[in-house]
Amino acid sequence: MATFAIITFGCQMNVNDSEWLERVLLAHGHEKAPLSTAQCLFCNTCSVREKPEQKVRNCLQQIISQRKQDPPALIAVLGCVAQQLGEDFFALSPHLRLVAGPDGLPKVPGLVEKLLAEPRLKISLLDFTLSYEEREEGLAVSQGPTAYVNIMQGCDNFCTYCIVPYTRGRQKSRTFSAIVEECRRKIAQGACEITLLGQNVNAYGCDKQAKAARSQGEDFPSFAELLKAIGSLPGLLRLRYTSPHPKDMRPEDIEAFASLPTLCPQLHLPLQSGSSRVLARMGRGYDRERYRELVRALRKARKDLALSTDLIVGFPGESEEDFEATLAMLEECRFLSSFSFCYSDRPGARAVTFLDKIPREIQHARLLRVQNLQDELQKDLLRQRVNTITQVLLEGPSRRWNRQGYAWQGRDPYGTLVHVAFDRCAEHRGELVTAQIFEAGSHCLFARESSYDGNDLQRTDSQS
Ligand code: SF4
Repeated sequence: MATFAIITFGCQMNVNDSEWLERVLLAHGHEKAPLSTAQCLFCNTCSVREKPEQKVRNCLQQIISQRKQDPPALIAVLGCVAQQLGEDFFALSPHLRLVAGPDGLPKVPGLVEKLLAEPRLKISLLDFTLSYEEREEGLAVSQGPTAYVNIMQGCDNFCTYCIVPYTRGRQKSRTFSAIVEECRRKIAQGACEITLLGQNVNAYGCDKQAKAARSQGEDFPSFAELLKAIGSLPGLLRLRYTSPHPKDMRPEDIEAFASLPTLCPQLHLPLQSGSSRVLARMGRGYDRERYRELVRALRKARKDLALSTDLIVGFPGESEEDFEATLAMLEECRFLSSFSFCYSDRPGARAVTFLDKIPREIQHARLLRVQNLQDELQKDLLRQRVNTITQVLLEGPSRRWNRQGYAWQGRDPYGTLVHVAFDRCAEHRGELVTAQIFEAGSHCLFARESSYDGNDLQRTDSQS
């Protein structure tokens, strides 16, 4: 048996994959250890952000040089960057002996002992043939109040800036029965909020594999039907999902916000650009007007819906006018939050060949303008919540309030982080509490439990 550490880069899907890996390694009898001493090091990589390959190399080189006297017996690079660069990683260090793409992950735990027993062995797992269902279950862990469940792998969209379809493969929806079974298990282990995950969740059931299963009589519901089935499971209080694609948002998906009480009034709907011209070059499959229609329909279904989004600024050929169209969309849609990045080439993606790249200084100046506007919008939206009542699902002690046991933090239905003060010290993890908001920070809210008058409330941190 060996000791192990896992480093995770990237999105919630990667975090979910790393948590699965940890559970299975523990079930195999391995033990967790700090990075400085672990015999096996797993680096789960992501290629969405800028220079992902360099980041992974830097991280591994740093660890290898810090552990010159006591190098790890096995280093494995997993995930999207592993898929992209494959066996090139082996040149980095003789200890780097396993490279596995996202679909190779199910086999990783079973190879650890073999690799430790044969120090010269190197293995690469880079095909797209393994499915999510081939993952073994792993050690049952006590589940926090919130849980994530993958409903699909890969993507069929080929947006011109993205390499996910090349690193995670084509879309494969998990079977309905496997998803329901995992949700039930997580609820039984203590989860009362579930977030369904996928690269393009609302295209669930639209892939080749799902269509073939359906033609053979298998129960493969639509995304809206899946939401209804999961949202009605006994014990589940809240359901969320991320990320949907605007082009795949159907009327029944929108209607679910009106009719499904457990579906939270929160949606992350990636816009990417407010300019129809840029959206067409990105290959997004919708234009500015279609996105605006969607927002109107969504807010008609659920008046208080909180929207968040992703934005890419400085896409090749983006003019000042295109960029201003993005700013105008931010104001019009009033996103509660957004993740914005400067465009950068991803080797293998189509936009690499676009010649009209935007200079870095213009990209950075635009990014700053987007982020400043978003900060103002968010502050304003949060300020409007002061003196209202909300429901907070508490996840752990507050990191903003130095009142151990008296202050807890969690998310409200809109996905906003709320710090809640109580009048006495107690354990509140997993409780859904009613709280009165009395102050707005830049990115979070401060509230007190509604039966507590808060007269003796003293914050000891600085305001965000
Ligand atoms: S929808 Fe587009 S951006 Fe999202 S993963 Fe698929 S190809 Fe990438």
